[in-house]
Amino acid sequence: MSCKCQECGKQYKVDVIVSDEVWNDISDGKNLLCGSCIFMKIEEIDCYDVFELTNKYIVAKTHDGVEVRTNDTVWVKGSTGYHTARVLESSTSYELFGPIPVSQSFSSEEAIKDYFEKDND
Ligand SMILES: [Zn+2]
Repeated sequence: MSCKCQECGKQYKVDVIVSDEVWNDISDGKNLLCGSCIFMKIEEIDCYDVFELTNKYIVAKTHDGVEVRTNDTVWVKGSTGYHTARVLESSTSYELFGPIPVSQSFSSEEAIKDYFEKDND
């Protein structure tokens, strides 16, 4: 699915979300603007700002409660200790005995050691 920019008429698929304050300065009463038009208009505003582009597709939370996305590295417990694995969709790339659900993985080596070396083994 895509939207049509009301400024340049191009179809676009990635929504750029800006603050209400910035939107009020650039929208000129329009409802749909593509990323190119949004940034051209932001450049015209007489101020400097910084925007961070993030992936809104947060896949899952690790056991220690950290939100991770596809391709992030997490820690899993295997038969020979702790290993890193990549986040696929709702599971990890750890393949020795089959992928491990992200909800059973940990965000860091410290977090996985904390968990298993206390009273949860
Ligand atoms: Zn546009």
